[in-house]
Amino acid sequence: NDLFKGKKVLVVGLAKSGEAAARLLHKMGAAVVVNDAKRYDENQQAKELERLGIKVICGHHPLSLLEENLDLVVKNPGIPYSNPIIKEAIHRGLSVVTEIEIASLISEAEIVAITGSNGKTTTTTLIHEMLKTSEREPLIAGNIGTVACEVAEKATSSQVIVLEASSFQLLGTEQFKPKVSVFLNLFDAHLDYHGTKDEYSLAKAKITANQSKDDYLVYNMDDPIVSKIANKSNATLIPFSVKQRLSKGLCIQQDSIYYNGQSIISLNSIVLPGAHNLENILAAIGAALTVGARLQQVRHVLQTFSGVEHRLQFVTEYKDRRFYNDSKATNILASQKALEAFEQPIVLLAGGLDRGNDFDDLIPSLGNVKALITFGETKDKLAKTAEEADVKTIVYADGMQEAVLAAFEKSEAGDVILLSPACASWDQYKTFEERGERFVEAVKSLETTLQS
Ligand code: ADP
Repeated sequence: NDLFKGKKVLVVGLAKSGEAAARLLHKMGAAVVVNDAKRYDENQQAKELERLGIKVICGHHPLSLLEENLDLVVKNPGIPYSNPIIKEAIHRGLSVVTEIEIASLISEAEIVAITGSNGKTTTTTLIHEMLKTSEREPLIAGNIGTVACEVAEKATSSQVIVLEASSFQLLGTEQFKPKVSVFLNLFDAHLDYHGTKDEYSLAKAKITANQSKDDYLVYNMDDPIVSKIANKSNATLIPFSVKQRLSKGLCIQQDSIYYNGQSIISLNSIVLPGAHNLENILAAIGAALTVGARLQQVRHVLQTFSGVEHRLQFVTEYKDRRFYNDSKATNILASQKALEAFEQPIVLLAGGLDRGNDFDDLIPSLGNVKALITFGETKDKLAKTAEEADVKTIVYADGMQEAVLAAFEKSEAGDVILLSPACASWDQYKTFEERGERFVEAVKSLETTLQS
């Protein structure tokens, strides 16, 4: 593939995806320069790339790097467009893309791309699982798996890449053209990066911008903004809805999932909890069957798959309480969905990084919550919200072990004990994964803690 041979490319921002893009472009014969903010003496990645013969400039972003007749700038999705070197590159009319654009350009395999504010990882995982016994040999890419361009490099034309695509990644695309795009929903997340909701929806709309009628868009008909975007798409539309009956597309009818009028599976044989997951499931079925999944495997996955780690993941049952880890719920909407997934009384563990918002929107979902155990920067705000929602018991806790112990003490047999923080984790933990792991550890050691 000579696509990048002899091209001058500047890669701004390393991390996992920048490094993969730099390596790949170098291998494909491009003249690659890498520019990373992290100082050279602390930058192991930079040193490794240098060893390959890639030019590396670290510690700052000199604008002079744009003066070398560049053909392309590859930007790490995390770097904002307000960064001076990116701003200047765009001002000069340079192409500034993210690595999923490279993946899409070089991939021989068809791409199924999944986006939305919430549910991406779950849906991506479901589609990947559903395709496993098909002839397609699916590969998973994006946040959960390997960097997309690395996967695309190895994928053959008979395979299919199942790619989780964030708005940050999509914003940096120009010719990105998935065979199947899945658009789940659009909420007010990430506004600090994208500025306005319009801009955010524009970024997400890029998932279908280059699709033609040989391509497919699986989309949530119940979401007005998503529907609006779908109606402007050139792709063949596959709508899904949990509210309306549809003769074409996916819907719920007589307690079963239907696709184009055919019954796929009854709701009571699906393991994954939560109404929100039903949306993810409908989307996944639509996408997986479109690229050749076997119906039998689709059913098998739905009868066995109990959730992705940290996403409303069932942890264990202890003394008749069921524990769930939903550490990935880093915003209010995600926690609303988790709370709505249960009919039993809930002891909720929540709190974390303060982004300056209030939690009023959580009040309607707190009806089943009998106790709130709260921690982190937002604990006072959450306590106030819980009070307004008439939550009977509110406890402040420091560490996770203390929180889990308090949760157990305030619970009774039959209750659900749920970590669904409604906040990012960075005030107390490195990542939401770490927070979830601490929770699972604390739950698993509860018996010992209680005895001591
Ligand atoms: P993402 O990868 O988009 O962050 P995940 O699949 O990791 O999404 O789910 C994150 C959280 O978002 C879940 O714990 C759940 O609470 C919530 N969520 C998942 N799917 C949906 C959906 N379709 N609509 C609303 N909220 C959802």
